[in-house]
Amino acid sequence: MALLFALVLDPLASENRGQSFSDTFTVVDPDGPVLPLGELSAQRGDGVFESIGVVDGHAQEVGPHLDRLARSAQLADLPVPHAQQWREAIARVAAEAGAGESVIKLILSRGVEHGSSPTAWITLAAAPDNARARTEGVRVVTLDRGYQLDVPGRAPWLLLGAKTLSYAVNMAAVREAKRRGADDAVFVTSDGYVLEAPTASVILRSGDKFVTPEPHAGILHGTTQRSLFTHLGGRGFETAYEEVLLSDLRNADAAWLLSSVRLAAPISAVDGVEKPVDRVFTDELNAYLLSPRD
Ligand code: PLP
Repeated sequence: MALLFALVLDPLASENRGQSFSDTFTVVDPDGPVLPLGELSAQRGDGVFESIGVVDGHAQEVGPHLDRLARSAQLADLPVPHAQQWREAIARVAAEAGAGESVIKLILSRGVEHGSSPTAWITLAAAPDNARARTEGVRVVTLDRGYQLDVPGRAPWLLLGAKTLSYAVNMAAVREAKRRGADDAVFVTSDGYVLEAPTASVILRSGDKFVTPEPHAGILHGTTQRSLFTHLGGRGFETAYEEVLLSDLRNADAAWLLSSVRLAAPISAVDGVEKPVDRVFTDELNAYLLSPRD
């Protein structure tokens, strides 16, 4: 999607200032040359990011996204973003969004090779049309992520819980899923536990209980999943974080992929075996996810 608006921020802006951070960010031409070729985000995917859903100009779940950006930055030894500065910058970008759905991306990069400062920028784009995924659902194949459930704890340098810019593997998994005739993938550990999709969390429903894999299994803790679990809890459903086996996914009454922009996409088949899609319930979930959330 073409970028509609962009600004760059000074990620080392001091906390000791007056009320506003507006002098620490600059609007730039989203189509123009802005970043030097020496950028480590471009050369090595060395940085962290967030994608925020925007509905009718309202940026959803800004606090949880900024908390996760801070955690990713910490895991990647980048300076922790200044929440108030980023909030102001996000509000500035969201003000440019029109009616309908858009996407705001926050990017914090290691900066230029041998440079002295990280680089940060925020972009706005129109959201893709996700109507089909939300209604008809997505067919998934399960793909081995190549490590066991205990690897994140044993090898923190793999940055498995961080949302880094290195998404080449995630995109390769989506292409592999398409080669196999599906729409998307679900990663599983080599010892048979469900993790997440390349760009989404996985939740399962069995009766009135909803389950998602434990975030410490080296997956991203989804802002959409957290928000939806709070909503489901309020509606009287049971929600839980558990170790989820591949057989649990296969046997669940229903399952969804959840993410900030596509929102709730029901899983309509797992490895070629059809799963029922509850259209009415899914519509309710997406109506909630499209309502203004903070
Ligand atoms: N897991 C991965 C790997 C993701 O890339 C994403 C979103 O991009 C998610 C889970 C879902 O996170 P969120 O709901 O915060 O968008």
